Amino acid sequence: MAQAQAQRRRNGNIRNGNGNGSQCKENDLLLLLRERSEGQGHHHVHRLNLTSSLNKGNNAKATIVTVLALAMAMLLLLFYSFSTSTSTSTRITSPSTTGTAYEALSVSVSPDSDAVINLDHGDPTMFEPFWKNAGDKATVVIPGWHTMSYFSDTSNLCWFLEPDFANQVRRLHRIVGNAVTHAHHIIVGVGSTQLIHALLFALSATATGHPVSVVSAAPFYSMYPGITDFLKSGLFRWAGDATSFKVNGSSSFIEIVCSPNNPDGTLRRAVLSTEAGKLVHDLAYYWPQYTPMRGPADEDIMLFTVSKATGHAGTRIGWALVRDADVARRMVKFIEMNSIGVSKDSQVRAARILQVISDGYELPDPDSTTSFFHFSRRLLADRWQRLRRAVEESGRFSLPQFSSEFCEFTKEHAETYPAFAWLRCDDESIEDCEGFFKSMKVLTRSGRHFGAGPEYIRISMLDRAHNFDLFVERIASLGLR
Ligand code: PMP
Repeated sequence: MAQAQAQRRRNGNIRNGNGNGSQCKENDLLLLLRERSEGQGHHHVHRLNLTSSLNKGNNAKATIVTVLALAMAMLLLLFYSFSTSTSTSTRITSPSTTGTAYEALSVSVSPDSDAVINLDHGDPTMFEPFWKNAGDKATVVIPGWHTMSYFSDTSNLCWFLEPDFANQVRRLHRIVGNAVTHAHHIIVGVGSTQLIHALLFALSATATGHPVSVVSAAPFYSMYPGITDFLKSGLFRWAGDATSFKVNGSSSFIEIVCSPNNPDGTLRRAVLSTEAGKLVHDLAYYWPQYTPMRGPADEDIMLFTVSKATGHAGTRIGWALVRDADVARRMVKFIEMNSIGVSKDSQVRAARILQVISDGYELPDPDSTTSFFHFSRRLLADRWQRLRRAVEESGRFSLPQFSSEFCEFTKEHAETYPAFAWLRCDDESIEDCEGFFKSMKVLTRSGRHFGAGPEYIRISMLDRAHNFDLFVERIASLGLR
C-alpha cells in the first residue's frame, strides 16, 4: 500500500502536467492493479513506466501504448482473479452462521409419502445446527505450508499425534468426567475403525499357535465381525457372541465391550473375565447427550471417536486411551504400516471442534446454544419422546426401557437417549422387521447383522430433522389404520 501511495504521488506530476482524464484513469487502473498485486514486483513498475512515457507527447505512439497497456491490464486482471480463486490456503467454512441452534427443534415438515428414508447408517448429521450456529468459532484455516511433514511430535510414542489435539482430548475428558487420561497413552486413528484394526493386531501379534478369538456379547456392533475377518488374518478371527463363547484353557481371546452398546443402548461390562483374555472398551457413546455420566471410566484400553462425540464423522478421527506402552507401540506400528500416520489436517480440525465444546462449558455464561451436550441432549430427548409415543400408538412394536440415573456431569437425574432405537416387531404377522419397514420405504438394519433375530431392527436416531420427522409420521400413521 505504502509503495503504491508513493507511486501515486510520483504520478501526480504526470496527471497535473498532461491534464488528460482517460490517461489518469489508466494510471489509476494500473495503480489499483499494482496495489492488489504487491509483491509481484518489476512487471508492474515496467507498465507504469510505459504509461508515464505517454506524457512525452507522441500521440500515435501514445495510442498504441494505451491499447497495449489496457490489454495488459485486462490480462493482469484475469491473472489476479485466477490466482485468488486458487489460493493456497484451505478455508473450511460453515455454510451459514445465521440459523439458531433451536431451529432444529421446531422444523415442521409436510408429509412426503414417496420419500425413501435411510436410517440404516448412524450418520450423525443431527448435530449440524449446533455447528452452524457456532460459525467462525469452529472454522479452521490451514495455510498452504502448514501440516506438510509426516511427523507431529517425534518425542511422543505416537509420533503422528498432534500435541494440540492430544491436549484437547485430555481437557474434554476432564470437563465431562467420562474417562481418566493421566495414566494412558493417546493413539489417534482414522476413526475408531482403524484403531480397532490396530488393537486386534496389537493384542494378538505376540500370541503363539491358534488365531486369537474375538468376541462381543450379542447384540454386538455389526461391524465387529467384518473388521475382524475382512483380511482373513492368521492372527485373529471372529468367534461371535461372547455369552456363548467357551474359554478353552489358556487359549487367548479378545472381548470387545461396547458401552453404551450399539445397537441397544445398554450399559455393558465384560462377560468373560479370565487372565487369558484381553478387553477392549469401545466407549464411542459414553457422552452426556446419550447417557448419564457415572464417573470416569478407567479401563486398560478405551476407544472414542469424534463421529459420535461431536457428530464429525467425516473428519475421520478417533482416539484410543491405552495404559500399556507395549500395546500402544504395536498399535502405532500397525498405523505406520497401514497409513503412515493420521491426517494432521483432520487432527487440527478435530482439536478445534473439541476446543469449542470445552470453551462452551469453561467460559462464562454457558447457555444452551454454547453447551453442546445440553443442546444435543434436548434434541435427542425430543426425538425419543416422539418416537416412543408413535410406537406406543401403533401397538405393533416395542423399544427398550431405561431407568433414569444421576448424571455426574449435569448434576441431575437424567434419562438415557441412545443413538439408535433397537426396535422389536411384536406383531407376529411380521416375520422380517427390516423387510416390513422397507415396504414403508424406511431403510433400517436387521437384527441379524448384530447377532440377534429378524424381529429386531436398528434405527438411527441421529439423522437430519426432516428425515426423522417423516419417519415418526410414518410409524404414527400405522396406528391410524
Ligand atoms: N464403534 C462403535 C460402537 C460405533 O458405533 C462406530 C460407528 N458407527 C465405530 C466404532 C466407528 O466409528 P468411526 O467413525 O470413528 O470409525
